[in-house]
Amino acid sequence: MKNIFLLGATGSIGTQTLQIIKDDNNFCLKAIACGKNISKAKEIIEQFHPEYVSVENKEDYLKLKDEYKNITFGYGLDGLIGAATYSNEKGVLINAVVGIVGLVPTIEAIKKGRDILLANKETLVTGGEIISRLVKEYNVNLFPIDSEHSAIYQCLLGGKKEDVSKLIITASGGAFRDLSRDELENVTLDDALKHPNWSMGTKITIDCASMVNKGLEVIEAHYLFNIPYEKIETIIHKESLIHSMVEYNDGSIIAQMSKPNMMLPIAYALNHPFHLPNKNLEKLDFTKLNGITFKKMDEERFPMIKLAYKVGLLGGIMPTVYNSSNEVAVNLFMKNKIKFLDIEKIIINEVSKYESQNINKIDIETILYIDKEVKNDIMKNYEVF
Ligand code: NDP
Ligand code: MG
Repeated sequence: MKNIFLLGATGSIGTQTLQIIKDDNNFCLKAIACGKNISKAKEIIEQFHPEYVSVENKEDYLKLKDEYKNITFGYGLDGLIGAATYSNEKGVLINAVVGIVGLVPTIEAIKKGRDILLANKETLVTGGEIISRLVKEYNVNLFPIDSEHSAIYQCLLGGKKEDVSKLIITASGGAFRDLSRDELENVTLDDALKHPNWSMGTKITIDCASMVNKGLEVIEAHYLFNIPYEKIETIIHKESLIHSMVEYNDGSIIAQMSKPNMMLPIAYALNHPFHLPNKNLEKLDFTKLNGITFKKMDEERFPMIKLAYKVGLLGGIMPTVYNSSNEVAVNLFMKNKIKFLDIEKIIINEVSKYESQNINKIDIETILYIDKEVKNDIMKNYEVF
């Protein structure tokens, strides 16, 4: 029996995780955290009977506490930490919240000796150095859920780390893959949310359209696999059938393939090292494929990729500046306060502001301080957030 502590239970990854564990007696959902979707939280409570539940707001917390007397509730950041560190029993933390809010709960769970299954890439982008250090110090496992990183993990099992010549991260290209930069001028939120291959949460869908998602994934891969940036490459592969590849020194390339379905990487993270049958997963039939295509990543067309390498190489607070400016810019775009291309402009502007004052020796307080500074700096230019 594996105890599950799930952050972001009401989201896209959270829901798919619950779908996987619901019919499996090997898993027990001990604690959940969610944001504002209380009706969905209640459904999860009725179905899974978690012992600990955290929500985002105090008002919701007070109401739920009244309604369910036998459950321990929390709220806000303390609640997220409460869910991540709940109980002294063994188990895994599945971090599927969106944004840097996932960082501190992950750190606290590691300090508790808990293994981490990570969907929340913002945690590694901002706190990669600290997380990598803590994972060693507390001797816990950090396992990827992101499909590209799950693929790379599997491809790395085929050889020796010292023989790896590069990681090749595939990118679907997102909703605007075939548009020119001129055509991006007037795209809308609705357009950005039409991802060709995956159904995901709003923020990551917009990140795919801007290619920031791939930028974040390059940094995520660097920390997860301890691979230098010059050995990480991205390539457009619009069918999303090859989820990523590893090239070895002799030219041998190992790829991981499947139909695009996040339940596969989630289930593999939960069951690893086993690839168990799963009724939610449809197998790939090669005879029915209409071809597999690849296209060089165009850094002029997708400037957020180049910028991700730059902030990654600079290290220190710079990946946080990239991530936090993106988080706030995406939020503004979702509220129709800015145009799609302003997301890039905002990120470029903040990165250039902080570049000359990078702080290299970072601790968690510095990251959280910079996150707040960057977000305030951007927000002061807009009336509402
Ligand atoms: P969603 O937006 O669908 O879900 C986000 C979850 O986080 C929801 O449960 C939401 O709660 C919760 N949440 C948001 N803010 C807070 C907060 N302040 N406090 C507590 N809970 C909060 O996102 P996804 O599931 O799409 O993505 C989650 C993470 O996984 C992201 O980092 C994303 O990049 C990554 N990822 C996602 C993939 C996907 O296919 N969706 C693929 C690979 C990676 P509520 O809804 O109740 O407000
Ligand atoms: Mg991904």
